[in-house]
Amino acid sequence: MQSFKMLVGGTLVDGANSMDVINPATEEVLATCPRADTKQLDQAVAAAKAAFPAWSNTSIADRQRALNKMADKIEAHAADLSRLLTQEQGKPLDNAAAEIEGTVAWFRHFAAQDLEATVIEETEERRIEGQHRPLGVVAAITPWNFPIILMAFKIPPALLAGNTVVLKPAPTTPLSTLMFAELVHDLVPPGVLNVITDANDLGSALTAHPDVKKISFTGSTATGKKVMESAASGLKRFSLELGGNDACIVLDDVDPQTIAPTVFQHAFQNSGQVCIAIKRVYAPTSIYDELCDALGELARQAIVGDGLEQGTQFGPVQNKMQFEKVQGFLDDAEENGTIVAGGDVPEGPGYFIPPTIVRDIKDGTKLVDDEQFGPVLPIIEYSDAEDALAAANASPYGLGGSIWSNDIDRAYELASRMDSGTVWINNHTELSPGVPFAGAKQSGFGIELAAEGLAEFTQLHVVHVPLR
Ligand code: NAD
Repeated sequence: MQSFKMLVGGTLVDGANSMDVINPATEEVLATCPRADTKQLDQAVAAAKAAFPAWSNTSIADRQRALNKMADKIEAHAADLSRLLTQEQGKPLDNAAAEIEGTVAWFRHFAAQDLEATVIEETEERRIEGQHRPLGVVAAITPWNFPIILMAFKIPPALLAGNTVVLKPAPTTPLSTLMFAELVHDLVPPGVLNVITDANDLGSALTAHPDVKKISFTGSTATGKKVMESAASGLKRFSLELGGNDACIVLDDVDPQTIAPTVFQHAFQNSGQVCIAIKRVYAPTSIYDELCDALGELARQAIVGDGLEQGTQFGPVQNKMQFEKVQGFLDDAEENGTIVAGGDVPEGPGYFIPPTIVRDIKDGTKLVDDEQFGPVLPIIEYSDAEDALAAANASPYGLGGSIWSNDIDRAYELASRMDSGTVWINNHTELSPGVPFAGAKQSGFGIELAAEGLAEFTQLHVVHVPLR
């Protein structure tokens, strides 16, 4: 069995304790990995703090080089990383490979950025410039759905800006992050990057640590609120990328057969465990039956299985707790709607739930109003697109959303009134490192990616320079 170590102060170390990591496709122990205690957490933060003065004084060219070297290292080990990611997370191998490929692209994107001071005002008398100074120790906390690429939303911009980092992955998917740590540990000075793993018990100690100056958190809205509380005492900077309940509003001019495969893919990729997956579909009466039938047919054809098996399109739900939670949504679907396809949970082993399409369900039910974060999709009938938009906007979440139409002007007008950080027209879930990503309402706070996301890892430092 492969062994895994944490990275603290430049050294690969065992945990004070250990814990088992389960393969969700087999429910067997995949590996035993380190579990840090609070002493090791303190050591990681102390190492990051000690490394900060020198790292923040390196040239940006040095830091760009380090990120490019990390990208090269990840790329060189892509096959091993992908396989491990599939085994711990459950996603099909080609999806895992795409996640690793995206991670490389994310690192390279940030390696190509700079943080030049901007001239705010320049006259004969004075120049006022905005410099971007690093913040100090960043706590980076990631969830279990995309452990590697969500790490790449944080680590490259944090390091590029001159911060040092303590990274903590989710306890059910720590292995690919630990492998990443081992691969890159000697590409930056000791303490610049630290990785610790826990059993869901160190997050609050990390975020509350007085030497942590910025928290970059991706996870659930409930935990995000706790992070916000921890940040308050030290008035720490923080960014929160949280849950969503993305609505897809289909307008009456589309051909349901044409859009169904794309809508299906954006709803069920990674078995629905995507923060910006389509989580509810609003369809007009005129094409409601046809769209439900087309999506139902796709669900029936879907190949669900172990992500390592060739041909698998959808893997298991990632962990037991989520598996049980999604079954609660299936119960709600049975009670409040009609299951068109899927719905039957096979006997184990494995946390498998087939793609499930639910019709005749309304707003006000658990499946429509809450974030299912799993492969169960409600389709809600509407007669007026304004009502569908109002229902979409009534959610406390506001991560993403989409409008589907052949009339781009009409779609654009509705899209502009959607209360979410991102809206796509005839698309969904597409992200790229140069496009800012933000959640509205209870889906988040702050921005990740692009120049705006990079700026969140810095303190704006305004310098007034007299010129005569
Ligand atoms: P979670 O909030 O349970 O856990 C996320 C991380 O926070 C884990 O590493 C966990 O160990 C850590 N954590 C737990 N308690 C903590 C605390 N008190 N303080 C600090 N950290 C703590 O979320 P999850 O179940 O791992 O992930 C699923 C959720 O994440 C979904 O709601 C999903 O929508 C959301 N998500 C959001 C985005 C986004 O970018 N908006 C992306 C992916 C996932």
